[in-house]
Amino acid sequence: MSCVSLPTDFPVAPMLDCWKCPVMKREIAAIEQAFRRKTAVTSTLIRSIKKYSEELKARDPGYVYKIMDFCGTHEWTIVHFGLRSLLKKAGVDNVELVAGPGCPVCVTPSYYIEQAIKLALEGVVIYTYGDVYKLPALRPVKGARSLAEARALGGDVRIVHSFLHAILDARKHAKPSAFVGIGFETVAPGYSEAILKGLVPNHLKLMSLVKLTPPAMFYTLEVVREKPTDFPISGVIAPGHVSTIVGGKAWRPVAEQFEIPVVVAGFEPNDVLTAVAEILRQLAKGEHKVVIEYTRAVTWEGDLKAQSSIRTVFETVDSAWRGIGYIPKSGLALRDEFKKHDALEHFGIPDLTPDTWRYDLPANCKCAEVNLGKAKPTDCPLFMKACTPDRPIGPCMVSVEGTCAIWARFGGGGLAEEIAKEIGVF
Ligand code: SF4
Repeated sequence: MSCVSLPTDFPVAPMLDCWKCPVMKREIAAIEQAFRRKTAVTSTLIRSIKKYSEELKARDPGYVYKIMDFCGTHEWTIVHFGLRSLLKKAGVDNVELVAGPGCPVCVTPSYYIEQAIKLALEGVVIYTYGDVYKLPALRPVKGARSLAEARALGGDVRIVHSFLHAILDARKHAKPSAFVGIGFETVAPGYSEAILKGLVPNHLKLMSLVKLTPPAMFYTLEVVREKPTDFPISGVIAPGHVSTIVGGKAWRPVAEQFEIPVVVAGFEPNDVLTAVAEILRQLAKGEHKVVIEYTRAVTWEGDLKAQSSIRTVFETVDSAWRGIGYIPKSGLALRDEFKKHDALEHFGIPDLTPDTWRYDLPANCKCAEVNLGKAKPTDCPLFMKACTPDRPIGPCMVSVEGTCAIWARFGGGGLAEEIAKEIGVF
């Protein structure tokens, strides 16, 4: 789900809660209806998952097969449709679905948000996405802890749905402006193509905060493998949106190095269940390969034109992830020939380095562990007490893709009860 379905002339206006957006509501209703129409498929998938889980249990009793869903939208699907509860109801008790670091808002260092707040309070027009607007920084700047608070103090902060919307709006004025460019590989072609096509006005600069997911997946699997809380990750549901750009091939090194199955999945509940079934099938058969389940959108090679566009404009750099630290080659920075578009350089803001990065989560916030699949939101002492979607303390409680925000809004079994009855699982 995203705002890509909106027309490019959609007005620049605050959309403070994506769940109240009529486009989002329509999309969710359509996915629910499609799911209800395909309960025969769901039933077959659950039977298949159960069969392989029994095979694995017979071979290795007591072992729990952890499957990491890397993408925040997969976590949304799992929680909203109650897939964990559905598997439990079907008696699949040796498989655990674990959320990963697939929410860019959750992992963007506090430092950059603080710099954006500072710029806003100094008179620079700041463009950003709706969830970044509410993202709490660790250190308040002149009393403002988020861009929303900077706006309340008089800063000109404008919520947009894409870089293109920011460009269209910036063309209507000549004020110094910056776009807070958070995202994964999916958004990067939108930034690079706008630059290559000469669409960006001189007074609008880009704060490139794009993060790359394959290096993060490597890092996450290494951390969990080296310091497991209990069982290591046995398989991965790879992000579907990102894979439309990078292709299924991007995940082959993961499958080969860690010898685990990786399935690129779509975002409907039966896509996720298909991915779980395929991962368990591979585990039962001793295989570890990349399978693209999301064939309606993802190819093995990915979008070569988008990859070329990204490579032309950006270079790969070591990048800091909030609460986690530096992950090698996990970010995109503008190449020297495109530095004139760089917000940090233009406004004289020193970039973070491994020496200047400091742990940037609030006290007691477990977002780093949640993002690395080492803790659940409910393990955090602040979850739904001090930290709620209306008053987020940590970054995972903000975005529609943040694990804590998803659990807070949709936790508790989702549609599992109704679907279980429809497919005869009790
Ligand atoms: S509940 Fe809030 S404070 Fe706790 S891990 Fe989640 S976002 Fe961080």
